[in-house]
Amino acid sequence: MGATWTGAALLDQSVFRAAAARAQSTGAPTQLFDIEKVAEGVFAAIARPAALINCNAAIFVRSTDLLVVDTHSKPSAVAALVAQIKKDITPKPVRYIVNSHFHWDHTQGNPTYKKFAPRADIVASVATRRLLADNGPQRLKESVEQTQKSLEEMKAKATSASGSDKAYYQRMVAEMTAYLKEMQGYAPELPNITVDRTLVLQDPAHDLHIAFRGRAHTAGDVAVFCPQKRVLATGDALHGFLPYIADAYPAEWPRTLYDWAQFEFQHVIGGHAAVQHSKDRLYHMAGYLEEITDAVRKAKQAGRSVAQAQQTITPATLASLNRNGYGDFVAASIARYYPPGPNPTPAGILSEGVKTNVAHTYTALDRA
Ligand SMILES: [Zn+2]
Repeated sequence: MGATWTGAALLDQSVFRAAAARAQSTGAPTQLFDIEKVAEGVFAAIARPAALINCNAAIFVRSTDLLVVDTHSKPSAVAALVAQIKKDITPKPVRYIVNSHFHWDHTQGNPTYKKFAPRADIVASVATRRLLADNGPQRLKESVEQTQKSLEEMKAKATSASGSDKAYYQRMVAEMTAYLKEMQGYAPELPNITVDRTLVLQDPAHDLHIAFRGRAHTAGDVAVFCPQKRVLATGDALHGFLPYIADAYPAEWPRTLYDWAQFEFQHVIGGHAAVQHSKDRLYHMAGYLEEITDAVRKAKQAGRSVAQAQQTITPATLASLNRNGYGDFVAASIARYYPPGPNPTPAGILSEGVKTNVAHTYTALDRA
């Protein structure tokens, strides 16, 4: 997800509001992740919806230490996950952190891991390190400014709303206020090991291949493949939401996914939403990307504007969304794992998502 996904308009959702109300009524601290065992020594930390979205983490338990993929949107999320890992999985220390790509919701916890494990190495692709070094400070500034704006809107709504709506807005205000506070004086931490194609970490427990195979959701997405456990951790190049195309290379993305499909995996820990247990959604997502890219390119070549393209390219016209239940699958994932906005019906989620995808693809097609 990119910086704009902090938008307050995206945060109204009945399930989330009800959960917020429940949490408030019990006074229980809100748990950020659900830990799920994927294979022997491989776990997924599935992020629950939050005002400032967190990514999932993939946790690979090695013989004496851990490799963790992705570090969420804030230091406190890493602190919470480290405590949960110690309690529910293992006391082994974190040795490697992988940034699947440069987005804020996957990298802003880097410095916190260095606090818990000063000797840990942070691994990313060459492009991800460069993007973090070049764009990191500006993206952080945008994310903080967007959150400040959203916070003012949430405060106004918290004052006028009642019942479970009020509890929801109060929780948004509390989470956003806490985020802004913890990001004051924040100093980013860059990856110190870069991968240009494959880095293999050998270990008696299982090997891990950190692989870059071309541009996709960003210029630098890597996958982490565990051959013995047949698990692939994919960041946002493959997950249960609609693809996020703002920083993407949509004409190259499917090819990169087909390359990843060569790995012999059975389980996918994506950057967001539930663990997948087949390669099917890889092909469905690639097919959707191919179709929307082709449709947007044709609209652009015909001289249509973004708004005109959004009128003609819709969930109904995209066969890839209507085959194999792919559209229903992503709508359900977004409803469950991402507070999806003021119109949380599956149809509303898909039409808003496709609109955003069309606009981003329109721009991304010109990206060199
Ligand atoms: Zn993300």
